[in-house]
Amino acid sequence: MPVSKELLEYQRVDGTLRKIEQEIASSEERKKYLQARKVMKTALDKLDALDRHAADLIRLRDELSVRIREMSKGLDEYEDIDELLEGGADVGFYKKNAQALLEKLRTVKAELAKLLGEIDSVAAEYKKLMEQGKQANKVYKENKEKAEKIEASHSGEIKEIKAKLAEIAKSIAPKVLEYYTNKRQEGIFPVVVQLNDWMCVCGVELPLLHRSELAGGNMIECEHCRRLIYKA
Ligand SMILES: [Zn+2]
Repeated sequence: MPVSKELLEYQRVDGTLRKIEQEIASSEERKKYLQARKVMKTALDKLDALDRHAADLIRLRDELSVRIREMSKGLDEYEDIDELLEGGADVGFYKKNAQALLEKLRTVKAELAKLLGEIDSVAAEYKKLMEQGKQANKVYKENKEKAEKIEASHSGEIKEIKAKLAEIAKSIAPKVLEYYTNKRQEGIFPVVVQLNDWMCVCGVELPLLHRSELAGGNMIECEHCRRLIYKA
């Protein structure tokens, strides 16, 4: 693939397009809305996790409530203790049982209280995250709109440059242009560079072995940065 002045001109004009693209990509508004999008995503993920956690807690709460109801019912039976005693039952045995049950009930009730506290803090966290998400969504919308306006303000210029590029492209071999375009899409720029003392712009020297391949303005790929290099 020989280098040509059309290809170099194409690259020069393409450079002005790239500059505009970079300007658009690096606008504060764009940074802000991308950041806000990240915050929104994190908040949503956390809300998801909280949802699952809350469902677990509520199931536990219901289980504990049932246990407490059952235990209370168990204790009610001891209301008839006088009758039982009259029937000659062992006072010590019933008292011990009733006390043990009361003790258990107290423990379960404390467990429930702790759980309810946890449910409250999950609810508070949920509210906070919702607020955060809402705020981020506002920032996202505002800045996305602004970023789009900035982009739109360049559209005329971009169109002009692209038309110019299309015109120059007519004088470039399709295979060479495709090669160039692929590199450019990979983020390589400039794509075509002139060797300086057998040295590429990336700082790597072209091995002796390949130097003859550059005869007649032929371009080869730098093994290090994969740019197209040529010798003037
Ligand atoms: Zn290189």
